[in-house]
Amino acid sequence: MKNTEIEIITSVKHVLAEDKLNIVIVPHESPDGDAIGSAIGLAEILTDYGHSVNIVTPNDYPDFLKWFASEVNIINYYDDKKSGKAVIKNADVLVTVDFNEASRAGKLEKKLLKFSKTKILIDHHPYPTNFCDYMISEPQYSSTAELIFDVVNQIGLGDNITQNAAEALYTGILTDTGAFNHNTSRPNTFKVVSELMKFGIDTEKIQSGVYHNFSANRMKLLGYCLNEKMVVYPEYRSAVITISKEELERFDFKPGDTEGFVNYPLSIKNIVFSVLFIEKEKLVKASFRSKGNFATNQFAKEHFNGGGHLNASGGESKLTLKETFNKFTQLLPEFKHQLLETVI
Ligand code: 5GP
Ligand code: MN
Repeated sequence: MKNTEIEIITSVKHVLAEDKLNIVIVPHESPDGDAIGSAIGLAEILTDYGHSVNIVTPNDYPDFLKWFASEVNIINYYDDKKSGKAVIKNADVLVTVDFNEASRAGKLEKKLLKFSKTKILIDHHPYPTNFCDYMISEPQYSSTAELIFDVVNQIGLGDNITQNAAEALYTGILTDTGAFNHNTSRPNTFKVVSELMKFGIDTEKIQSGVYHNFSANRMKLLGYCLNEKMVVYPEYRSAVITISKEELERFDFKPGDTEGFVNYPLSIKNIVFSVLFIEKEKLVKASFRSKGNFATNQFAKEHFNGGGHLNASGGESKLTLKETFNKFTQLLPEFKHQLLETVI
C-alpha cells in the first residue's frame, strides 16, 4: 500500500479489534461485482471475527451477483428505507467500499455524511474526496477486493478469511479486471488470486455465476445494440452505442443487463475509445472505456459530470439522449489528436 500511512492502518486495526461492534458496510450506487464482492467479502471476515455486520446497498444490484453462498444480511435501501435507517443508526462503525465521493452513495449520501461515529473508506479510484475518518485509498490496485485482501492481512484478520469471503473477493477481482483482461499489470493481483485459491474456491462456479447467468432477452439486447445501435468513427478511433428507455423496455431490461456492453467495441481493431449512453428516468447515464493512455476519467469529469479510472469511467447528462449523442460527436474533433496518438 503506497498511499495509506502506517498510522491509518494501525488506527483501523485498533478500531476493529474492539469486542463485538455493529458494523455497516456501504458499497456504491448500482453496485457492480467489485462493490458487492468487496462488501460481502469484508462482511464475512468481520463476522467471522465476531462483529455483527450488515450491508446496506443504495439500490438494487444485478441477479448475476446474487448467487453468493454468504448469509450476511444485505438491505437494499431503495426498497427498505426503514431497515436501512435502523441498521445505520445502530452502527458503531461504517465502512464504505469501492467509491470515493459521497455522491456515489446515491440515496445514502446524506446518511453517510451525517453518520457521526467512525467512518472508514476502502477504495481504489483516483482523486479521493475526504469524507471518512480513515481513508484507505489505493488507486494502483486492480479492485477494491484485491485491496481488502491486503488490508485484512495487515490488520491481523487474515485467519478470519473464510471460503465464502475468498469467493466474494475473487469475484470482485474477476469483474473489475474484465475477467483478467485489464488492470492486471501488477504481480500483486495474481499473488492475491493465488492466495484466494488456497481457500478452495470454485473458480468455474464463479465464472459461470457471473458470466453465464444472463436472460435470453439480455443476449438479444446485446445483439441488437451491436448490430443496429453501434456507430463506429474510425477517423476518431471511437465507437458509441445509445440505448433508449423504450429499447430497454422492449427487451425486458433488468438491472445489470447492459453491464459489459461498453467493452465490446474495444475489441474492434484500432478502436481506443468506447462510449455507452443509456436513457434513464431523469438523466442519461454514460459509460466510458479506453485502451492505452486515453484518459476517459478526464473526459468524463470535464464533459459529463463524472469520473472513475483512466480506462473505465462514467458520468451523466441532463440532456435528452439525442442531444447527449450530439454533444458527444461534437466533442470528438477536439480529442482527435489525443485519440490518434494513443498507443496500444
Ligand atoms: P460503469 O461504466 O461500469 O458504470 O463505471 C465505470 C467506472 O466509472 C466505475 O469505476 C465507477 O465507479 C465510475 N463511475 C461510473 N459512473 C460515475 C459517475 O457518475 N461519477 C463518478 N465519479 N464515477 C463514476
Ligand atoms: Mn472497483
